[in-house]
Amino acid sequence: MKVCKFGGSSLADAFQIKKVCDIVFADEDRKVVVVSAPGKRNREDIKVTDLLIAVAKAHLAGQDYEKEISAVIARFEDIANSLEVTSILPEIENTLRAVADAKITDDVKYLDSVKAMGEDCCARLVACYLNSIGHKAKYCNPKECGLFLKHNELGKAVILGESYDNLSNLGKGDELCIFPGFYGYSKEGEIITFSRGGSDITGSILAAAVGASVYENWTDVDNVYAVNPEIIKNPFPITEITYDEMRELAYAGFSVLHEEALYPVFVRGIPVHIKNTNNPSSKGTKIVSKRTHYDSLVTGVAGEKGFATITISKYLMNKEVGFLMNLIRILAEEGISVEHMPSGIDSVTIIVRKKNFPVEKEEVVVNRIKNELNVQNIKIARDLAIVMIVGEAMANSVGIMARAASALGNAGINLRIVNQGASEISMMFGVDEAYVSYAVRVLYKELFKI
Ligand code: ASP
Repeated sequence: MKVCKFGGSSLADAFQIKKVCDIVFADEDRKVVVVSAPGKRNREDIKVTDLLIAVAKAHLAGQDYEKEISAVIARFEDIANSLEVTSILPEIENTLRAVADAKITDDVKYLDSVKAMGEDCCARLVACYLNSIGHKAKYCNPKECGLFLKHNELGKAVILGESYDNLSNLGKGDELCIFPGFYGYSKEGEIITFSRGGSDITGSILAAAVGASVYENWTDVDNVYAVNPEIIKNPFPITEITYDEMRELAYAGFSVLHEEALYPVFVRGIPVHIKNTNNPSSKGTKIVSKRTHYDSLVTGVAGEKGFATITISKYLMNKEVGFLMNLIRILAEEGISVEHMPSGIDSVTIIVRKKNFPVEKEEVVVNRIKNELNVQNIKIARDLAIVMIVGEAMANSVGIMARAASALGNAGINLRIVNQGASEISMMFGVDEAYVSYAVRVLYKELFKI
């Protein structure tokens, strides 16, 4: 059985929804279909999820939200009219209004419940359309199917283990199962959404639960590319990539799938196939646990801004037992997650994401490190970008670091940090934020020889 997830651009209007249905019919193994909310029809358009957020915000601010909710209803009306399934419209409007009009007891819970309605109504509509053209399909409600979530200590939505058993029979009947992405329920029956783009996670959970042969993730590009196409035109397409490589590239800003989406399929070894709804015959990109082939030595190059460094120097640091442990403890107590920690003999640099280390925290962190660790020298910089070269094939080849470093050097880019993990799957360079795209371009040109 295949689980397929379709993103917002694949469901943006009736024309796109018809393409989705053709894709589903083309393979009888496609039994479970996860849908996002209708996305943008053109560059200026607004995603249904954003329209819903506007509804919730207006209500939360105590304002009238009729204009906002009418915009959401109009999007569904437009699609239902073109698909000739207007009979579903009262159900969609009632569902939307019931959730939007609900009494607000908790702002976050209310926002979650309204946000989820884009996916919910889209699943109802697609199921109705499929039945109208003679295919058995069922809207599957996440609560009835047992997709239970909770918030972890950081407020993030995480799945409750029992959900996998609850969901394991999906798609086993003769009906297509149309499942709304992006949300589940708490055990208390309240809606909980994942973070934005979270329908990818739903698809992955369902693929894991039913033991799918593949998790197909349908989007609007032919492939994942070796570099961001906004930096390099017509970049090298990736036909196959491992979960580990994907994770490394995602870390440095590759935004193909939601960051948390790979985990459920990764632990069960289920491959992910990224495909283009607008060009189904293109090969797409497979994410697998073990490669069958390598198209190139380097799989991808990516770069991301938004890092800060805390550099601490103390004479004879290397002799002081427990120094690093105490340093890390202070950061942990302040709720700051450490990304990397390159060190010298008498100095260490902690690399963190700026969003996890707000400026307001600087004073307390600096004071604690100074006082508790008896350190005189601390320097904070908030302008670091990370550039990564990723590829499992690099492990046994000599000279890639030399080529990369000299290409960057010849381009006049100063390397502030260099790091190669022992797994040799990636190399990381820290550069000034201002140079990040330039550095990615230089590295791509050198390593892909264009
Ligand atoms: N509709 C949600 C969003 O726009 C979730 C998703 O599409 O995956 O973020």
